[in-house]
Amino acid sequence: MTPFAKSILNWYDAYGRKNLPWQQNKTAYSVWLSEIMLQQTQVATVIPYYQRFMERFPTVQDLAAAPQDEVLHYWTGLGYYARARNLHKAAQVVVNEHQGEFPQDIDAMNALPGIGRSTAAAILSSVHKLPHAILDGNVKRTLARYYAIEGWPGQKRVENQLWEYAELNTPEHDVDHYNQAMMDMGAIICTRSKPKCSLCPVSDGCLAYQQGNQTDYPGKKPKKDKPIREAWFVMLHHENDVWLEQRPQSGIWGGLYCFPEQKNNAIEEILDQRGVQQKHIEKVSTLITFRHTFSHYHLDITPVLVELSAKPQQVMEGNKGLWYNLTVPEQIGLAAPVKQLLESLPFELTSN
Ligand code: SF4
Repeated sequence: MTPFAKSILNWYDAYGRKNLPWQQNKTAYSVWLSEIMLQQTQVATVIPYYQRFMERFPTVQDLAAAPQDEVLHYWTGLGYYARARNLHKAAQVVVNEHQGEFPQDIDAMNALPGIGRSTAAAILSSVHKLPHAILDGNVKRTLARYYAIEGWPGQKRVENQLWEYAELNTPEHDVDHYNQAMMDMGAIICTRSKPKCSLCPVSDGCLAYQQGNQTDYPGKKPKKDKPIREAWFVMLHHENDVWLEQRPQSGIWGGLYCFPEQKNNAIEEILDQRGVQQKHIEKVSTLITFRHTFSHYHLDITPVLVELSAKPQQVMEGNKGLWYNLTVPEQIGLAAPVKQLLESLPFELTSN
């Protein structure tokens, strides 16, 4: 065992997190679910989602059998919805192709939708104590600093170097504790902006600490200004109902429900296509524009509230939509800004 791994394991015994919900009565299913939820999301945010999800889908069979809309509903607010769609698909693959048991072979695990090399390793090491190295964002940061590895981990060369060090240090025994400790270290000690080096068990050998330039590692992604796009959300509203449509599976908010959207303020086309008659439009109000930021661009959204005296007789062809009842909401996945808008609707709109 390397001195690095030894120090990490000693630290884990004293300070590692051992009481998280997914660390109790571990199964491949529960660990997998937590690992997917924890990608790009903090532990404190994940806990209530994890608990609700496990209550509703206690087994991989329950998840595989559920409608996608319901899975997305339980994911609403966690973001990065491809994770939820892949989770659902992977559950179906486990049930249909692996007799309901997660594979123990790392390549077979890695082949499941939404499971990369590090996640597969995290599950197998945690549940079956198989000595596979992990390399999530936290581990990358700690190793990049400890070994003073130059460059952005998104580059293959840098990533390969990090994998080499990850494998070098991953022990044969106690790998479950070691991997958990490495994730905890990155989350608690070797944090992004102010690493707590005075509490770090490996500070003696850390090159970045010795150089005094910890936060230069890992190297940053070369910056590009995010472009700004615009969208108009048309909120067709009648009494307690608002019209929502399911988005295509691919693209942003895939499979989630959203207001009809337009790239400019000519909303007549949307009204025509939805069969809205002029005589039924009581009022059209343009609400305040707000910004939703994706990883690659900003989207400036202008909601347009169209109050109707009657619903169109025939709405849409070819699109999946529904009248979403504001007092008895459907269990569907909502795009984050849609959820935000629905929650901010004035009280009188929801109290009829
Ligand atoms: S000494 Fe500081 S920078 Fe180095 S691994 Fe520990 S916490 Fe991270």
